[in-house]
Amino acid sequence: MSGMTGNPEAIGEAIRNARTIAVCSHINPDGDTVGSATAMRLGLESLGKEVYLFCDDKIPDQLSFLPGVEHFRRPQESDGPFDLVLAVDISDKARMGACELLISRSAHTAQIDHHPTNPMYMETNSIDGKAPANCLLIREQLRELGVAMTREIAICLYTGISTDTGNFAFSSTNAETFEVMAELMRHGLPLSNLNRILFRERSRPQVLLMGKAIDSLMYYCDGIIAVMKLTEQDFKDCGALSEHADTLVNVGLETIGTKMAILGRETGDGMIKFSLRAKHPTCISDVAQSLGGGGHPQASGVTLAGTLDEATERVLEAMIKKLNGNGKQ
Ligand code: AMP
Ligand code: MN
Ligand code: MN
Repeated sequence: MSGMTGNPEAIGEAIRNARTIAVCSHINPDGDTVGSATAMRLGLESLGKEVYLFCDDKIPDQLSFLPGVEHFRRPQESDGPFDLVLAVDISDKARMGACELLISRSAHTAQIDHHPTNPMYMETNSIDGKAPANCLLIREQLRELGVAMTREIAICLYTGISTDTGNFAFSSTNAETFEVMAELMRHGLPLSNLNRILFRERSRPQVLLMGKAIDSLMYYCDGIIAVMKLTEQDFKDCGALSEHADTLVNVGLETIGTKMAILGRETGDGMIKFSLRAKHPTCISDVAQSLGGGGHPQASGVTLAGTLDEATERVLEAMIKKLNGNGKQ
């Protein structure tokens, strides 16, 4: 059975019936999808499974401390077949990128996810749209499988939980989040060290890119909307990669009075990737969905074709339309 609540028993059964398992992270990987996959790998290997990690994009350097992250491969590098393909934190099939190839090379398919917009695209789906981080669902899954918590698994889970809750600041953060954190601390989580790597340090290209993003900042609708843009040239000037722009949208949202912020970036392949953020209770996922993207109520994304200026105009128009009452709050 599948539904909009987690279903660890069904996933547990699929895992118990498999020997070879391909675990997939989403494109533009973040701490939650990579933390979910690396925690799963450690847990499943302790059960004697043969586990393969896949992602269609490079894993950001910032996450290189994650135990086992070096096992990630591009889906094109694998022949399969696998007994089971397991997607983690992947809101829809398109976010698998080329990992979608693995579906036809696997006997069974399953996913664990926490995006309310998930259309349940696998055979077995465990979706809890209320979970603040997918890593909280992974921890539940590992318990269901009887996997013992270790310091290494704690490091992976903390990475997803802290990054998806904005370092325990988003309104999604709940009592259970801290209960799980207490468990991770008891298993030797090096909190201060990881917190510095994830939240208190930036590489030099990231700092330079922040300057470019702030230079481009424009406000609309009395400052309710903040818009930033980064060109391919900006990335070149800073010696920066696309991943270095991943949290910069928050700089616009930090402005007092701003309720919605977007950051558009040229990806180098003619497409423009947008990060959309909103302050609770303002919702942004409806705007992303209306343009073909998706995500969480306050953190969504969409990728559009066109020039940076044209595509940004389209996103801005959709936001203004929502503000003018053609959508809810
Ligand atoms: P990002 O701005 O890339 O950090 O994405 C924010 C959130 O939106 C993440 O949880 C993603 O899963 C989701 N998201 C980003 N891009 C897309 C997209 N093109 N389609 C659906 N969801 C997306
Ligand atoms: Mn997530
Ligand atoms: Mn994610």
